Amino acid sequence: MQRINIAIDGYSGCGKSSTAKVVAARLGYTFIDSGAMYRAVTHYFQTHNIRLDDVGEVEKALGDIEIDFVFKSQSKQYETLLNKQNVEQVIRSMKISEDVSQVAAIKEVRAAMVRKQQKMGEEKGVVMDGRDIGSVVFPNAELKIFMKADSKVRAKRRQEELKAKGEEVPLVDIVRNFEDRDLRDTTRKESPLVQVADAVVMDTSNMAFEEQVQKVLNLAIGKINQKH
Ligand code: C5P
Repeated sequence: MQRINIAIDGYSGCGKSSTAKVVAARLGYTFIDSGAMYRAVTHYFQTHNIRLDDVGEVEKALGDIEIDFVFKSQSKQYETLLNKQNVEQVIRSMKISEDVSQVAAIKEVRAAMVRKQQKMGEEKGVVMDGRDIGSVVFPNAELKIFMKADSKVRAKRRQEELKAKGEEVPLVDIVRNFEDRDLRDTTRKESPLVQVADAVVMDTSNMAFEEQVQKVLNLAIGKINQKH
C-alpha cells in the first residue's frame, strides 16, 4: 500500500496534535509534533540563558541540540527527548508557551527544525502537525488540513489538559497566550502560519474528538486509494 504524508496546520489549541496522534496510530504511520521541537528548543534556550538576538549564540546552541521522539508502548505515550532527557512534561508548561513563539520566529531556528522535519518525512507515512507543514515543510504533502476553532472552546480544552498534568491556569491567561501566539505566528516574517489553497479547512469548535479523527482518516484513505 502506497504511503502518503499528512500535514495538519492551524491555530494554537485546536486539537491538531491529539487528532494527528490517533490518525497516525490507526494508519500505522509516524506521528510528529513539530511544535514539541520548537518547545524543546525553547526549553534549552531558557535553561542555558541563550540571548535570542545573538545569532552566533543561537547557532552554537542549535548545534548542541538533539531532539528525538520515542513511543512508550507500555503507557502508549509519546515522549520528547532533548539531548536524551525526557522533557515531555516540562515543554507543555505555560513557562514554555510564553516564550516559544518568539523562539520559533528566529530564522536559524526554523531552518534547523525544518531540515530535521523534512528528513523525518522522506520515507512518507508521516502525520505532522504544526504551523508551516503544508506550506514549507511538506509543500507536496498528499493531504493538508487547516484546523481552527472558537478561542473559548480552545482555551477550555487546554485548561483541562493542563489541569490533568497538575498545572492550574486561569482561563484568561490561556486565552491571552493563544491570542499572543496566534498573532506572532501569523505575522512573523519567517514562514508564518497561512491557510494554503490546497488545504481542507476543519473548524473543530463543535466537533467531537472521534468525529475529527474520522474526518481526517476518511480524507487520508481517499488520498491513499487515489495513489493506486
Ligand atoms: O503546536 P504547539 O502549540 O505546541 O506549538 C508551539 C509553538 O511553536 C507555536 O505557537 C509556534 O510559535 C511554534 N511552531 C511553529 N511552527 C511549527 C510548529 C510550532 O512555529 N511547525
